[in-house]
Amino acid sequence: MIYIDIEDMTFYDDANVLVKSFYPRTEVAVLRADSAVTEDDMIIKVTVPEKDLSKKESHNEFKKNLYIQLSNETGKTLPWGFLTGVRPSKIAYTMLEEGCTRKDILDEFTVKHLASEEKALLALNVASTEKDILESLDYKNGYSLYIGIPFCPTTCLYCSFTSYSLASYKDKVDRYLDALIKEMEYVSELYKDKRLDTVYFGGGTPTTLEPYQLDRLLNALYRLFPMENVRELTVEAGRPDSITADKLSVLRKYGVERISINPQTMNDETLKIIGRRHSVAQVKEAYSLARSMGFNNINMDIIMGLPGEGIREVENTLAQIKELSPDSLTVHSLAIKRAAALNIWRDKYKDMSLENSTEVMSLTEKYAKDMNLFPYYMYRQKNMAGNFENVGYAAKDMECIYNILIMEEKQTIIACGAGASTKVVFNNDDGTTRIERVENVKDVITYCDRIDEMIERKKEFFADSF
Ligand code: SF4
Repeated sequence: MIYIDIEDMTFYDDANVLVKSFYPRTEVAVLRADSAVTEDDMIIKVTVPEKDLSKKESHNEFKKNLYIQLSNETGKTLPWGFLTGVRPSKIAYTMLEEGCTRKDILDEFTVKHLASEEKALLALNVASTEKDILESLDYKNGYSLYIGIPFCPTTCLYCSFTSYSLASYKDKVDRYLDALIKEMEYVSELYKDKRLDTVYFGGGTPTTLEPYQLDRLLNALYRLFPMENVRELTVEAGRPDSITADKLSVLRKYGVERISINPQTMNDETLKIIGRRHSVAQVKEAYSLARSMGFNNINMDIIMGLPGEGIREVENTLAQIKELSPDSLTVHSLAIKRAAALNIWRDKYKDMSLENSTEVMSLTEKYAKDMNLFPYYMYRQKNMAGNFENVGYAAKDMECIYNILIMEEKQTIIACGAGASTKVVFNNDDGTTRIERVENVKDVITYCDRIDEMIERKKEFFADSF
């Protein structure tokens, strides 16, 4: 256990995140008078800035001092320095919009936040690509739609999303769709005069739905929304064990071009450990099937830092993916959140590595480049293995616009479904933006039971906002 000895709790969250980044496998708590400190525990004393600074400056000053202290103590540096925010590319994007030079932007990361040059360049490259793509879209006058399907064939060990195993919820799916379509009806009425730019079916795994259920849902989408201007319609097929020819033909029937088939790893042993319950062979079959049925924009997600996976296993995954040649590749760095089976994981796999490394991340970058895929969106999460980032790589013109919009928080995204979070972007007169959220309940049954209340929540929110 590491105890943080801190007087001013205003800075505790900053301290907690940084200490965890330097000591990822150790529990961290605040030191209190009654803390049962043992000989094996470590106490880190932190000092808070005394200077008369603004709130933002004092937090930055605090993080910088603590970062240097921890770096000296451990002999380690972190790829993103003491930047703890989840959207580094947003910093670069905003600076590009303000007309800053390349050097200013790189210095913001390397000099001000002590990030590595590689990460500074990554943020800048991502932001430049995003800006080019968004400039071709009149995004301020449109909106995007997210439809959540919170069911999966089984629950992966590391899952921190809203997801229910189909085995226990199969008989509840039709009722869920009733509620979901009711919510979509309300949104279509509310936004009837606005242009819909992108639609994203996520979850969960939308392809856990049976063909007739997918048909019903996509039919409702076309019936309720103006689809003629939609630039992108994505369905996250996700789990290869949920993909069949019948389901794919429903997606084709409704013009879905972009799908995701996510192996996470191309090592069967790891798939078993993380509870994916599908094989590498199934990934390949699903991929070939989708290609043969005309899907010309396929994304694949992989995760770095999975238990027991080092550079050799990662290289195997990347080599096999290269052979498949997807149009985009999203590289996640494992983030174990409290909601997942963290404690089971820790106990069961305590002897396995759960680390990510610069070497691994460089290898993914190299393979992406070899596949002609370039970074176009990125984000970070708390407690990521090795304190790295998630990066989306794509071939030119195959970038997912929805991913950029959600990461850069440029456009309103109306979300329907259990656990879905609507994010409304208000453009202020002075050019700045304000973001407000309205959330749905996570529990599927509660969502179905209280669908009228979910709709009422949206109604009240929008009545107050316009
Ligand atoms: S496929 Fe994704 S959403 Fe479903 S259980 Fe696995 S991690 Fe969770």
